[in-house]
Order: sequence, then C-alpha cells, then structure tokens
Amino acid sequence: MRHNGIILAIDGPTASGKSTTAREVAKRLSYIHINTGAMYRAFALYASEWGVTSPDDPLVGELSEKAYIDFDEGGNILLEGRDVSKDIQAPAIAQLASELATLPIVREKMVAMQQEIGKNGGVVLDGRDIGTVVFPDAELKIFLIANAKTRAERRRAELASNGTNLPLEELTREIEERDRRDAEREHSPLKKASDAVELDTSKLTFEQQVEKVVNLAKKVTG
Ligand code: C5P
Repeated sequence: MRHNGIILAIDGPTASGKSTTAREVAKRLSYIHINTGAMYRAFALYASEWGVTSPDDPLVGELSEKAYIDFDEGGNILLEGRDVSKDIQAPAIAQLASELATLPIVREKMVAMQQEIGKNGGVVLDGRDIGTVVFPDAELKIFLIANAKTRAERRRAELASNGTNLPLEELTREIEERDRRDAEREHSPLKKASDAVELDTSKLTFEQQVEKVVNLAKKVTG
C-alpha cells in the first residue's frame, strides 16, 4: 500500500459514467478524485483561447509547456488558477480535446502531471489510459462500459443540467466519433488493461455502480 491508500484507476469510453462514479467513490473512500478528461479539456480550452483549432497547429507544443492546469480542494479544474469546470463542458471543447489528445507531446505533459498528483495513493483517477499507461501498477483497475444509447442519454442529461440542450442523434454521433478516435489513435489508445475488472453500467443505477466499485476497493484495502 502507498502512503495515502490505493490508486484506483477507472477507464472507459466516452460518457460511460466514469467521472460521476469516480467522484462519488472518492468521496466515500475519503480519497482525492482526478478527472483526467477535464485536464485534456482544460488544455483544449487554453489552446482555443490562443486561436488553436486543429492538432496540426505548430503552437500546440509550446502551449503544452506553458499551460498551468490544476485542481482546487473541491476537485474543480483550474486553468491558470481560474475555475473552468463549466467552460470545458462545451461540445466544441470536447471535440478539440479529443483531437489534441492524439498528440504525444500533449499526452506526455498530462501523464506526468497525473503521476505526480497520484503517486502517494489515496486517489481515484478516471480517464482512458490510467490503468494501461499512467498507473499500470494501480492496485485496482475498473473498466466501465455502457451501451451507446445509454451513454448518449446520460450525456444529454448532463449537458441539460448545465443549460445546454442538444438532440440525441447529434450526441450519439459525437460520442461515436470520439470513441473511434480514442480507440484508433497510435499513442495510448483506449484499451482495457488485462488486469482490469469490467463493469457494464447500462442496466445499473448510479447507486449500484458506485457500491460495486466501493466494495471492490474495500476488498483491496482490507
Ligand atoms: O472524459 P472526457 O470525455 O471528459 O475526455 C475528453 C477527451 O480527452 C476524450 O475525448 C479523450 O480523447 C481525451 N482523454 C484521453 N485520455 C484520458 C482522458 C481523456 O485521451 N486519460
């Protein structure tokens, strides 16, 4: 066991419920929650503020060196010290994040930051490559999946709660496109780690999925 507890890695495709589950599990275990997708999104927001619209922009390398991304004590994502939790929900930022996340220079920077924050344990990280690349030695790895319809409906509800209403078809298309890019990219593609526990949440209530993960974590911590 590490200094502050175990490392719990939760990976899975877009909108599979990783972040909401990870946040609640972390709360129940009194662990820190690191939403790594929010870090890629915050970087995309930063890049877009510098006028970047595509991963081919030569400015991206320099910006990945400069960007200062962090979390506050409440788990809110900070970009250059300002809380950008709401701004990073915009679908255009999600798309740009997915494109910029294909670049090794961006991934190296994010992975190094995640390893630094998580190294002492007592942490739940959710993303695409936590169990395979960021912490291949994590004490517990969960791979969350859910069918495409469920995921699109969840994403629609999540966006609606922030005041953005988008048709289900558009969200389904967007999710499928990001899934494909995550699975096909050359660097750190989305892949279930061989020692991860797969959990299909399509037919589970939120409480059920949280409980399953917490119980698995308790088995490991004893
Ligand atoms: O999880 P979320 O949808 O917020 O992530 C935004 C984008 O960041 C994803 O579409 C994915 O391409 C990328 N990402 C990644 N590796 C992670 C987390 C997110 O490539 N660990």
